[in-house]
Amino acid sequence: MDKERHAIILEALQSAIGKENVEDSLSVMMAYHRDWLPPGVLNPTVPEFVTLPDGTEQTQQVIKICNRYNVPFIPLGSSQWSVTTAPNRPGTLIIDSKRMNDIVEIDEKNMYAVIEPYVTMAQVHAEANKRGLYLGSPEASAQASAMAGHVFQGMWGVGHRLGVGHRNILAMEWVLPNGEILQTGSWSNSEKTRFFGEGPGTDLRGMLRGLAGALGGIGMVTKMAIKLHPYPGPKAFPCEGMIPNHTSTLPPERFQWYIIKYPTLEKAAHAMYEISKAEIAGVLQKWPTVYYNWWWANSNEEYWETWKEGVWQKHVKYAVAVCLWGFTSEKQLDYEKGVLEDIIEETKGKLIPQEIYDKWVPRTANNWIRDTNGSRMMRPSGTFAALRLPFDTIHSSIDVCRVGADWVEKFSPPILDCDAPDWISSYDFGHFGAAETDFPLEKNVDDLGDIMQKLMGMMKEDLTHRIEGGFGPFLGGAYHAMAGSIFYNYGKLLGGIKKAMDPNVVSNPPQNYPVERED
Ligand SMILES: Cc1cc2nc3c(=O)[nH]c(=O)nc-3n(C[C@H](O)[C@H](O)[C@H](O)COP(=O)(O)OP(=O)(O)OC[C@H]3O[C@@H](n4cnc5c(N)ncnc54)[C@H](O)[C@@H]3O)c2cc1C
Repeated sequence: MDKERHAIILEALQSAIGKENVEDSLSVMMAYHRDWLPPGVLNPTVPEFVTLPDGTEQTQQVIKICNRYNVPFIPLGSSQWSVTTAPNRPGTLIIDSKRMNDIVEIDEKNMYAVIEPYVTMAQVHAEANKRGLYLGSPEASAQASAMAGHVFQGMWGVGHRLGVGHRNILAMEWVLPNGEILQTGSWSNSEKTRFFGEGPGTDLRGMLRGLAGALGGIGMVTKMAIKLHPYPGPKAFPCEGMIPNHTSTLPPERFQWYIIKYPTLEKAAHAMYEISKAEIAGVLQKWPTVYYNWWWANSNEEYWETWKEGVWQKHVKYAVAVCLWGFTSEKQLDYEKGVLEDIIEETKGKLIPQEIYDKWVPRTANNWIRDTNGSRMMRPSGTFAALRLPFDTIHSSIDVCRVGADWVEKFSPPILDCDAPDWISSYDFGHFGAAETDFPLEKNVDDLGDIMQKLMGMMKEDLTHRIEGGFGPFLGGAYHAMAGSIFYNYGKLLGGIKKAMDPNVVSNPPQNYPVERED
C-alpha cells in the first residue's frame, strides 16, 4: 500500500462522511475479507477502507472519491453472497450499508414500502404483516437485506404466486458507478409516486439487474420502493418454542400444506403444471430429498443420523410441496383444497404418511413463507456449490436436474451424499420454472478446487454445445460474459452499459461484466 496515497484518500473520505464512519484498521479490514468458499478458490484480499455512509448524498460522495482515485468499491447488503462481496483486488473500499437501515415508509393503501439497503426481509415482512401485507423471502434467509435480494436474485419461496423480485421494484434512487444519481420508475416522474415500476421510456430495472444479478457492478442503490402483496396471515408470524426447536403453524383456515409423492420427476413436473393451470396455491415447489434434511435438522448430528436412516429418501423423493393460501377467504381455501385433491387423484399422487408430515411440516415448511433455516444448507460441510441455474420452463428443468444429479453422483465423494439434488420451482403460476442443483461438498482446498475446475469444464462444454436454458454456476464474475454467448450475446450489451456508466471500472470489478478501463 502506498502510504501517501492511502492518507490522501483517508482524509478525503473522512471529510466527506465523518471520521467515525471510515475505518482502515487491520482488525476491521480482516472482518470484511472472507467468502464462504475455502481459501485457495477465490483468494479474496483484505480491503483498504470500510465506509459507512448514511444516505444517497454520502454514498455519492464516497463513490466520487473512488472515481477520483481509482479505488474499486463494493456495496454490501448483509453480505451473505460473500463470493461477490469479498474484495478480489488490492486497495478495495467497502461501502457497508449498516447505517442505512430504515423502512422509510409503508403505504398500506397503495401496497408498497420504501426501504434503505440494510433493511432485512424479516423487518419488512414483520411490518407488512401487521398491515395485512406480505413480501417473499429468498431461501438465503429473511435476515438478508431486502434491497440486496431485489437487486440480485429475488427468487423466493412464494414465486409461484408473486413472481421474481425484479418485478417487485417500483422505484429506485441509484448512485451510478461514476457518482451520478439516477431515479427510476415512479420517482423519475415525481418524488411522491411510488406505485409503478416503469418510468417514461425504457424500463431501467433491466439495466440494473436483468433477470438476475448486478452484483454491485453497476453502482449502489440507496433507496427503493418495493411492492407488497396481500397476506391472509396473522399480524405476527407464528413461532413457538426455543431456538433451534422452533415450530411455526399458520392458521389452518387460511393456509394448508400438502406434500405429494410421485414415482418420477416427470410425473412430479406434470402435477406442477396441472396445479399451475388451475391457478391455485401460494407455494409450489419440487424440493430435492436433501432439502428436507437441510432445512429440518437442528444439528449436524441429527442431520447425518436422519440421513443414514433414509427417512426422507424413502418418503419425499420426487414429492411436490404445495401450500394453499386462502387469500380472500376461508371459502377460497376450501375451493382450492377441492381442486388440489382432484388433481392429486388424476395425477395418481400419494400424500406422504401423516407421521412424516407431522415430523417435517411444523418445524420446516413455513420457511418457504418467511425463511430462517436457509443458511442451514451450508452446515453439513460449511459450503455448497451449484450446477446450472436455468430460468426457463418446469419442463426444461427436468433434464437439467437429471444431468445435474448424474454429475453429482459421479463426483461423490468429495461431493457429500445427497441423493439427486433436483430442485424445481414454479414462478408466475407455472409460466416459468427454475431448476437448481445445489450440493454440499468437502470444504478443503484440494477437493473444492478440483470440483470448481470440473464445473468450469462443464461450463465450457455447455458453451460448445450451446445448451440453452441453463448455465452455471451463478457465482458472479465471468458468468454474464460466458452465458451471454448462449443467450443472444446479451453480455455485449451489458458490457457496453458497464463501460458507459463505469468509465474508471471501479464498481466491484469484474462484476457485472469484465471490461477494461480506457485510459
Ligand atoms: C445458503 C444460501 C441460499 C440462498 N438462496 C437463495 C434463494 O433461494 N433465492 C435468492 O434469490 N437468493 C438466494 N441466495 C443468494 C443471496 O444471498 C440472496 O439473494 C440474498 O437475498 C442477497 O442479500 P444479501 O444481503 O446476502 O446480499 P449481499 O451479499 O450483501 O449482496 C449481493 C450482491 O449484491 C450487491 N449489492 C448489495 N446491496 C446492493 C445495493 N444496495 N446496490 C447495488 N448492489 C448491491 C453486492 O455487492 C453483492 O454483489 C442464497 C444464498 C445462500 C448463501
